[in-house]
Amino acid sequence: MLQLTDRLNRIKPSPSSMAGQRVRELRAAGRDVIGLTAGEPDFETPLPIREAAWQAMTAGKTRYTDVGGTVELREAVARKFSRENGLDYAANEIIVSTGAKQVIFNAILCTVQQGDEVIVPAPYWVSYPDIVLLAGGVPVFVASKPEHGFKLMPEDLERAITPRTRWLILNSPNNPSGAAYTRDELAALAEVLARHPHVWVMTDDIYEHLTYDNASFVTLAQAAPALKDRTLTINGVSKAYAMTGWRIGYAGGPAALIKAMVKLQSQSTSGANAIAQAAAVAALEGPQDFIAANKAVYQARRDAVVAALRKIDGITCDPPAGAFYVFASCEGLMGRRTPDGRMLRTGDDWVGWLLESQNLAVLQGSAYGVDSHFRLSFATSMAQLAEGMRRIEAAAHALIR
Ligand code: PLP
Repeated sequence: MLQLTDRLNRIKPSPSSMAGQRVRELRAAGRDVIGLTAGEPDFETPLPIREAAWQAMTAGKTRYTDVGGTVELREAVARKFSRENGLDYAANEIIVSTGAKQVIFNAILCTVQQGDEVIVPAPYWVSYPDIVLLAGGVPVFVASKPEHGFKLMPEDLERAITPRTRWLILNSPNNPSGAAYTRDELAALAEVLARHPHVWVMTDDIYEHLTYDNASFVTLAQAAPALKDRTLTINGVSKAYAMTGWRIGYAGGPAALIKAMVKLQSQSTSGANAIAQAAAVAALEGPQDFIAANKAVYQARRDAVVAALRKIDGITCDPPAGAFYVFASCEGLMGRRTPDGRMLRTGDDWVGWLLESQNLAVLQGSAYGVDSHFRLSFATSMAQLAEGMRRIEAAAHALIR
């Protein structure tokens, strides 16, 4: 009999990856399913980036690279951090991995021992807790309130820190809530962290280029330079450059941590895909104008979705400051019944009802640590979104008080 490890049994499959797969299966079975679950841009990777990959292949850049990333890409990343974030990282303070997900995985596996704690503000990206669990660590969830814009409050951070805390994971703009921290808010968190020098911070900045209403993005090491020597600044090309399938993520951080992460990577995946690394150089160094163009498209979709949801009795939401998700409350629908008499008690029931009655797939808030909410992605066409909103309205309308 196949024996699986305790390590594996501690984790669950990624709910967002599974939801995407389920939508594809239902469609293949002939159901007219609309999926608003995607955590990826619906745009194609810009042509100059694809051309750079082609050129890299024809130039023979098809071999193993340095484990921590090609010199060209690490230099491009260093220039990016300096140009966009005012952060100086040397080549040995940068790692390139197979997606930001592997960066996080490397960092946690290198530093978290059995019983060590990692503070994960909720709502959180689905993978943080499971990566911590895999390492034998304990994710310590800190709830945030919708009235605080789903942001971690300094006093709540203070309360969550113990002698066993190794990391705080900050994700801004946030998946799923879209919350984006201002410079002052980061400085207030930094004040708490200054009192606890044993706590390191991972900032997941993957949605950096997706902020709305002209909000400007700030990362922690920029807002609080004193924390730079215990901060891992994580980013990647997946979301900003519509490159999710290329699998390139990167981070800047203290040389000793980067060295440890490269050591781990050398015994797992080695360097990231050589062709994708060349394409990532073209992404970071090439024309950036499509980022603003895409952002304008996302913002129009966001506004349309928020306006439509706000008209539905029982659903409430705020416009997200960043990323491409709306995280809406379905609390007002709880206690209502389906036409055949089943009472909705949880957000999961509502999400199940949407799929069952309207063939609409969204993600349950419980996957992100907030049961009363559901997440829908607006990284899809206006036509799909309009039909999606019509279905949500119909599903809510069919419920009996
Ligand atoms: N971090 C967050 C918050 C995400 O939402 C995602 C993808 O959904 C990732 C990291 C993973 O990024 P990558 O494609 O670079 O692995």
